[in-house]
Amino acid sequence: MQPEIKDTQKSDLLSLLPDELEALVISLGEPKYRAKQLFAPMHDGIAPDDITNIGKALKAKLDGVAYYSLPTVRRKLVSSLDGTVKYLFALDDGNAVESVVMKYKHGNTICISSQVGCRMGCAFCASTIGGKVRDLRPSEMLGQIIAAEKDTGERISNVVMMGIGEPLDNYQNVIKFLKLVNCEDGLNIGYRHISLSTCGLAERIDDLARENFPITLSISLHASDDVTRSSIMPVNKKYNIDRLLTACKNYYAATGRRISFEYTLIAGKNDSKSAATALADLLNSKLRSRTDTMPIHVNLIPVNPVTETEFSSSDKKAISEFAATLEKKGVRATVRRTLGADINASCGQLRRENEKI
Ligand code: SAH
Repeated sequence: MQPEIKDTQKSDLLSLLPDELEALVISLGEPKYRAKQLFAPMHDGIAPDDITNIGKALKAKLDGVAYYSLPTVRRKLVSSLDGTVKYLFALDDGNAVESVVMKYKHGNTICISSQVGCRMGCAFCASTIGGKVRDLRPSEMLGQIIAAEKDTGERISNVVMMGIGEPLDNYQNVIKFLKLVNCEDGLNIGYRHISLSTCGLAERIDDLARENFPITLSISLHASDDVTRSSIMPVNKKYNIDRLLTACKNYYAATGRRISFEYTLIAGKNDSKSAATALADLLNSKLRSRTDTMPIHVNLIPVNPVTETEFSSSDKKAISEFAATLEKKGVRATVRRTLGADINASCGQLRRENEKI
């Protein structure tokens, strides 16, 4: 079956939840159990045409009303240091997104993209330079995992939504993706093995809290005062730090799930000792009280220099001092281990390079 994405009348099979697939199969005059026969293999990377226990007649009917498509590998870089694999995946309209597979002792983790490009405008980030091209469909987020499993021949057990795009700016599709990836007959990845990272769309965090999925929420904070944060993250002008942390507090109250904060260290911008003190004071005063010791974790990320931006990373001493200051004030902090350093594994840059070719 050839993908025919231009024909919007056709259903995107890999974006359908089990009950939606059932409804489609029934509408074609087929018994309900056919949906199950399609769902599991499709989520294993097998196109309906290649599923052996489905007859030709149903395949032809499906072909008329639906399509199945997976991202294809356009480029692949493998780190000789730690086996990290970075993919540039081509989508069926010719756009491309990046995914990274990291190998840990506890299993393989994939970092996936949620949009082609991004419109959030963070000053240090490569993904946002050309703006947003379009949202990814649920199937295209799922497809990155399926295609990576097919290519590596290994199961992926953890997902982080930290690739290109702002997941909460593609809210409905991301919610559907989360439900699909969690399906028992599909990839069956537990919500606790999924992290979603956001630059801070506070209203969408409120919405996500109401969905009550036990996923881990990561907040890209990067500064502890509004002036600094607004200067590097335009989203802060709409939802300031106070509004964002209120959403975090409510998220924790609703889900009981720990929130982690990402803090990219930029030399001379947000990496001083007083910035570390201010960050710890902010998190402690806003999120904790004497009776409530909400677990807070800060991930310190040395900024990855991007060709088009002028930011440079803090030195090792500044980074370890920053972490020590947080710890002293009761805020757990870890410095993000760099994986795939030799293949430029952080996101957005491969797609941009590809556009320039
Ligand atoms: N839009 C989401 C997810 C994508 S970015 C978000 O903002 O969280 C994933 C993480 O990488 C974010 O914490 C982001 O701020 C960080 N990041 C982006 N560019 C970076 C760079 N050049 N160096 C270090 N971290 C970067």
